[in-house]
Amino acid sequence: MTAHILDGKAFAAKLRTQVATHVARLKADHGIVPGLAVVLVGDDPASQVYVRSKGKMTVEVGMQSFEHRLPDTTSEADLLALIAQLNADPAVHGILVQLPLPAGLNSDLVINTIDPAKDVDGFHISNVGLLGTGQKAMVPCTPLGCLMLLRDHHGSLAGKHAVVIGRSNIVGKPMAQLLLGDSCTVTIAHSRTADLAGLVRQADIVVAAVGRAQMVPGAWIKPGATVIDVGINRIAGDDGGTRLVGDVDFDSCATVAGAITPVPGGVGPMTIACLLANTVTACSRANGLAEPEGLTV
Ligand code: NAD
Repeated sequence: MTAHILDGKAFAAKLRTQVATHVARLKADHGIVPGLAVVLVGDDPASQVYVRSKGKMTVEVGMQSFEHRLPDTTSEADLLALIAQLNADPAVHGILVQLPLPAGLNSDLVINTIDPAKDVDGFHISNVGLLGTGQKAMVPCTPLGCLMLLRDHHGSLAGKHAVVIGRSNIVGKPMAQLLLGDSCTVTIAHSRTADLAGLVRQADIVVAAVGRAQMVPGAWIKPGATVIDVGINRIAGDDGGTRLVGDVDFDSCATVAGAITPVPGGVGPMTIACLLANTVTACSRANGLAEPEGLTV
């Protein structure tokens, strides 16, 4: 069997077009331009790349991008003051603080200082609680993107057994909540799980969010299962350079799975598209306008 490839790159491009349409409508009908503020503290090279592409795509869909780059010597008080200023700024509808923060800054405190209505990453405890209780929340971008791909492929997910590998606050836990919300039977596996292979073999849906290159082999996958690979890992390539791989071994999994996301071109592009979608949703909610359909769950 050769798995159907879940093309996140193409899906994300469609989603960005939908976002751009809503942005144009907000502008034409209400004179509102959605704005996304991204705060980067320090000079982590991977974070620099993410922030640059977030800014570029924000502008591409017609929104305003506000970038705040602060040195890694920034004090917590100064960072909190910037967030308070962004919370109060009516031109800013979404605030994202790029993680990880340099040592010495309390990420929980910083994230929980963001106005929950502007928390487009969905990491504020209010949004975590709203999601966990099935209420309207800002939903974390990466799991939201995974859910969109799953719904697009399957339609209803009800009754499916989903195994989420990884229990981080950013991916694993919110992913599990979203799948539960769609009536899956959910198992969350992690570094201390006994017999991971045996568990994954029972899954109709596998979401791998571990951060270990190619750790899930095809032999763990139930024939016909759907595999969502969140991992982004850089390994040595055949040409002496490096290449990106996921947390699943794509080649062996693709011979057994019914559907699978590639890396790159699967979950990655969905994350930024969902960030833009969340910003438009936040902007619509802030202005008491009807929420655009299809941009959140
Ligand atoms: P994390 O390090 O916070 O969490 C990793 C999780 O994996 C932990 O809960 C841990 O218990 C679990 N784990 C570790 N070793 C394990 C093992 N041997 N067996 C089972 N579980 C194990 O990572 P994260 O932030 O959730 O990210 C996970 C991966 O997803 C990383 O590769 C990251 O780069 C990637 N990621 C991608 C996107 C995207 O946009 N595609 C977004 C966020 C994260």
